[in-house]
Amino acid sequence: MARLALRIDDIGAASKRNEVYSKQEWRWRRFRLSGNWLFIKYLPRYRAWGIYREMRPAEWEQVFRLLEQYHAKLTVGITATWVESQHELTPFPQKFPGEAAVLKDGADSGLIEIANHGLTHCVLENDAYKPKWFSGNRTQHREFWEWLAPEIHDEHLRRSQEILQTYFQREIVTLVPPGNVFSDVTLAAALKYGIRYVSCQTPPRQYQTLQVLGNEHVVAFHDRELVLEGVGWLENTLQAHADKTFCFVRELGE
Ligand SMILES: [Zn+2]
Repeated sequence: MARLALRIDDIGAASKRNEVYSKQEWRWRRFRLSGNWLFIKYLPRYRAWGIYREMRPAEWEQVFRLLEQYHAKLTVGITATWVESQHELTPFPQKFPGEAAVLKDGADSGLIEIANHGLTHCVLENDAYKPKWFSGNRTQHREFWEWLAPEIHDEHLRRSQEILQTYFQREIVTLVPPGNVFSDVTLAAALKYGIRYVSCQTPPRQYQTLQVLGNEHVVAFHDRELVLEGVGWLENTLQAHADKTFCFVRELGE
């Protein structure tokens, strides 16, 4: 039977607060108004990403019951810190202790794999991640741009691995680069801190002993769908793939 990994991203990522942009645009003769103008990008009808809230522990309990019911598993991409400001990052277990505890139970009982979804999910330098007055900020809500110094890639992977492995008391071997953005510099740092698999929308390849898996055999989604549409969204997805055998992302690489 065909194997399939379910992967949810953006857990604990402050991008759900700070990434605001719109795809909307209005034109009338030679006038143009972008949905990114001032408050328009915050309006539910026009916003493309944020703002939405973090998932609640009770919602995770519901997710776990569904996974059991459908004999499924889920890889959970966690961003290791919440960006309070350019100089203040709060580790996930401190920012969301209830959610972290439920996820630890889920990992202990074998229902979920904890994956690394970056340290910040965004570019911190010069407050690049902050919402802009007259434009969107989607680009700044990617973390591992190749134009960032190699030390930043290294530092973000070192700290995120340390936070996640210490709290969850297990090896974290899967990296999900935010927004599918990474370079060989990212991979070198990932390898150094114990990552063995990279999972995102990218062509599969091998980098030394690290496997870049791509999204083949993966259904990738975000906490955004479950928060805005309800946990029933996951049940529909599980039903749509009832003919598959579910596995963790890391098992696709083993
Ligand atoms: Zn993400």
